[in-house]
Amino acid sequence: MDDTPHRPTKSPVIHQLNRSHNTNITAARNPFLTRFGVAPLRKDDFAGVPSLSRRDFVKLCGMAAALLGLGSAGVPRIADALVTAASQRPSVVWLNFASDTGCTEALIKASYPNAAQLILEILSLDFHETIMAAAGAQAEELLEQAYKRGDYILIIEGGIPTKKGYGMIARREMIDIGKEFAAKAKAIIAVGSCATYGGAPSGDPNPAGLKGVSEALGVQSINLDLCPVNEGILVATIVDFLLTQRIPELDGHGRPKIFYGQTIHDQCERRAHFNAGRFVERFGSKEEELGYCLYKMGCKGPDTYANCSKFRYNDRVSWCIGAGAPCIGCGEPGWVDKFAGFYERLPGVKVPGLEGVEAGADKIGIAAGVATAAGIAAHAIGTAKKRRFKKEPPSEKADAPAGTGKAR
Ligand code: SF4
Ligand code: SF4
Repeated sequence: MDDTPHRPTKSPVIHQLNRSHNTNITAARNPFLTRFGVAPLRKDDFAGVPSLSRRDFVKLCGMAAALLGLGSAGVPRIADALVTAASQRPSVVWLNFASDTGCTEALIKASYPNAAQLILEILSLDFHETIMAAAGAQAEELLEQAYKRGDYILIIEGGIPTKKGYGMIARREMIDIGKEFAAKAKAIIAVGSCATYGGAPSGDPNPAGLKGVSEALGVQSINLDLCPVNEGILVATIVDFLLTQRIPELDGHGRPKIFYGQTIHDQCERRAHFNAGRFVERFGSKEEELGYCLYKMGCKGPDTYANCSKFRYNDRVSWCIGAGAPCIGCGEPGWVDKFAGFYERLPGVKVPGLEGVEAGADKIGIAAGVATAAGIAAHAIGTAKKRRFKKEPPSEKADAPAGTGKAR
C-alpha cells in the first residue's frame, strides 16, 4: 500500500444532487402497487429511508424487482433489503480513472429507475469526485476516511493505464490507487466499457497500455459493460447484492449472466425482419423507414451480449437499434477495435435468405449489390424470401448467429 499522506479537511460531503423530498406517507394508495397487485407498504416499512417519499421508495423497489425479473412478488423482499441497507448505509466509493465521465452522466441524468436515489440516499456515497461538493484536500480526506473504514462497495469508472506516467491523480499512479482501494472492498463493480475491458481509450495503438479493472488490478470485478453503463443494470446489480450479499453469477468475462446472457440479436425487435431476410440497404431508404433489420448497415448485434432492448436508455424510452442505429457492440470485450468499422458488416454471421440457404456476409453483400443494380427493391426481395421460408422455415440452428462461441 502506498503511504502517501492524504491532506486533512473538516468538511463533510454535500451531494449536489441531494434534494428535499416529500415525505407525505399518508398519501393515497400508490398506483404502482395497484398495478402490480402488491399490498401497500406501511409507514414502518420504509421508516429507515427518511429522505425518500413513500412514492419514490415504492417506485424504486418496483423498478428494481422488474429489472431483476422478480416481478411484483419481489417487491417486499427488495423493500426489506433496502430498508436494512438504509439503516446500515453501506459505504460506496466511486473512483474515476481514464474515461469521459459518461457513466456518471448516465447515472445522474436517469430517473427511471433513479440510480442516484439508490446510491445517494440509501447507500452512503462517501466519495465521488465528480458530484461531491468537496474538492481537493477536503475530498482527499473523505476518501482516506472511507479507506480506513474499509468494507465498501468500490465502483470504478474508467480504464486503468498500466504504463507509468500515463494516468496520474495527485501525483499517484491510477493503478496504485486502484490496487490500494480494491484490497479493502467487499465488492468491486466496474461500470462502462472503459472500466470493464478498456473501451474506447484502449483502442489501437493504446500508448497508455490501458486495461480494464480486472486485468489491470488482478481482481475479480463485476463487469457492467456498455458505453455508457445502463443505469438500470447498475441499480439492479446493487440491489441484487444487497439482497443476496453475494456477487451475481458471472459469465466468462465477469458480466452478470442475468443481464448479459443473451445477444442483442436474440432480443431485438427487428429480429423477425432478419429472419425473413428484410434488410435496410442504405440510410434514408424506405426499408429504413419500415424498420427492417440493420445487419447490412453494420449491426454487431449478433455478436454482442447485452440486454439493451429490454433496459433501454433515456429513462427506458429507446435504445440504439430502436432509434435506427446499428448496434456497434459496445457491450463486448475488445470493443472498439473488435468491431471497427462500425458500419461494416459483421463477418461470419449466418443469414437466412438468398436461395433458401444461409450465406456468409460476403455473399450477402455481393447479392445485395446485384439486386441493387437490377433495381430490385429490398422489400420485394424480402417478400420473396418470406414466401420461400413459408415452405421451408429455417431451423433454430440455422438462425443462430455464428461467432458466438465465447466462454460464458
Ligand atoms: S442484425 Fe441487428 S438489427 Fe438485425 S435483428 Fe440482429 S440485432 Fe436486430
Ligand atoms: S445496442 Fe449495442 S451499441 Fe447500443 S448500447 Fe447496446 S451494446 Fe452498445
